[in-house]
Amino acid sequence: MDCNAFLTLEELKAHCEKCRECSLGESRTNLVFGTGNPKAKLMFIGEAPGEKEDLSGIPFVGAAGKLLDKFLFAVDIQREDVYIANILKCRPPKNRDPKPEEEDKCIDFLRAQVKLIDPDIIVCLGRIAAMRIIKPDYKITAEHGTFIKRGKYLITAVYHPSALLRDPRKKEDMLIDMQKIKAEYDKIK
Ligand code: SF4
Repeated sequence: MDCNAFLTLEELKAHCEKCRECSLGESRTNLVFGTGNPKAKLMFIGEAPGEKEDLSGIPFVGAAGKLLDKFLFAVDIQREDVYIANILKCRPPKNRDPKPEEEDKCIDFLRAQVKLIDPDIIVCLGRIAAMRIIKPDYKITAEHGTFIKRGKYLITAVYHPSALLRDPRKKEDMLIDMQKIKAEYDKIK
């Protein structure tokens, strides 16, 4: 798919609504395209929608999303100023990890989305997003909060909020990473 084929996010979303490129298009309740400021300078990318997201059509609205909101609030970033999306636009059944072939089918939609939003900073939420966006052997425990420059984008990864729900000891690291993200964000706002 040509990432430049879409002129607006609405056009891209309408295309995704009809997508049946992988089997998740049949099993989903709603497409979870993404939400936020269409001209955001800061974009968060997770791996895939969960149950609450599938039911609402909005990313990061379940328990993990509420925790993400708390971290955004803690560093004074308004959720409506940023954009939040996932690599997969449809929920994998029982919240299993995305399959590589599903990511392969869906990744061009994310590329097109990033092109249209044109953020300066991209934050991968969790290991799976980081492995797809930063590098296949990304080690979230060792490398979270480290920034790399790729083209115009400043990219980093933080723990997925659901990992923080499983292991609250990681919350301290998450706060430090979010403070670093806020410092970079303040430079370009
Ligand atoms: S997950 Fe992506 S590729 Fe698969 S059906 Fe949904 S929009 Fe299409």
